[in-house]
Amino acid sequence: MRFVAHLDADCYYVSADRVRYPDLIGKPVGVVGNQGACVIAKSYELKAQGVKTGEPVWDVLKKCPETIFVKRDFRWYEVLSRRMLAMVRERSEAAEFYSIDEFFFSTDADKQIARGIQNDILNNIGLPVTIGVARSRTLAKLFSDTAKPLGIRVVTDPDEEREHLAKLPVGEVSGIGHRRAAKLLLHGIRTCLDYANAERRLIRGLLTKTGEDLWWELRGQPVTPIRPDRPTHKFLSRGGSIGGASADPNVIRAWLVRNSERLVEELEHYDLKAGTLSLSLSDQYGGGDSINAPLPGHTNRYGPIIAALLRSFERCWQPGTVITHMHLVAGDLKRPGFVQRTLFDPPDDETEPLAVVKRDVNERHGRFAVRGGTTLFIPEMYRDRSHGYEICDVRGKFCF
Ligand SMILES: [Mg+2]
Repeated sequence: MRFVAHLDADCYYVSADRVRYPDLIGKPVGVVGNQGACVIAKSYELKAQGVKTGEPVWDVLKKCPETIFVKRDFRWYEVLSRRMLAMVRERSEAAEFYSIDEFFFSTDADKQIARGIQNDILNNIGLPVTIGVARSRTLAKLFSDTAKPLGIRVVTDPDEEREHLAKLPVGEVSGIGHRRAAKLLLHGIRTCLDYANAERRLIRGLLTKTGEDLWWELRGQPVTPIRPDRPTHKFLSRGGSIGGASADPNVIRAWLVRNSERLVEELEHYDLKAGTLSLSLSDQYGGGDSINAPLPGHTNRYGPIIAALLRSFERCWQPGTVITHMHLVAGDLKRPGFVQRTLFDPPDDETEPLAVVKRDVNERHGRFAVRGGTTLFIPEMYRDRSHGYEICDVRGKFCF
């Protein structure tokens, strides 16, 4: 019988930085976010001093003055993530990319196999990981979450499973947050075992189908299979902060171009064409508008996409309006073979060979080596190489 394994890298961002900077090993390390003010990941040494993710650096320094801060580098984290996934895929016929540092894969209930994968990743890539093996995904994730760091927990015997579940608070289950745990407590459900032993109908009534799925999974009945192919996207979006507040049309257009280039790259990566496109501009108070940017047909080409966005921008933006954030959202996504061609499809114009050259050069010399001239208005974005990659560019990770 095949079981489900959940592999999760231990304090991933810090561990990834330690791969290229071994001097950081054993020291308190905090990875700081975009603006450099908050810690987005921390080493176990820093955690031991009471530092929490999201804390500002000045508070961190009060708790641990020796902290070494490192700037996040999502491109590097993705490079190592791919290496890990490739290693897992060599050893399992079905492996699912769940997040940048978490994979599910099918395996045997054999501690030695899990240990082998763990050692291979540690010795060849330099990353510590924890692996849980169980009868379902929810159980596997639960066991690996509670076996960190560098842990291996293989639990496939139902009696042993119950022993573990009795010791774990129900809030440890991924998908059951504080609010749901509080609801369950009113019915005397405190541990994972209480949950698994509860009446199915009670769980369904309290937490709907999602809760019932978890209930089955905690009882060792897999509901969600391993999905080696990612589910198809409904939307792809790119955007975020424009690096401060601006009412300068040149700066806003420059960001429109930068984000369009990132969106096109994403459409090409998944081999999808967009049927709808929208642009939203907002200010620091969250106010703002989302407007449609009609496309002439399904496309993933830069020319029609930027033309549609610029038209909408010129039509809707009131001169003098300050914006801080921009998002582009591509919807009605279709694979190229599934797009109905119409009489009104734009012809493959002369910009196409240009796009090919741009892609080739950028693959060789850096992601934005060749880019739209409009982006000359935001030179600071390209001066610092760490801006070449943003959190949204990490595939499989939600934007935040
Ligand atoms: Mg992790």
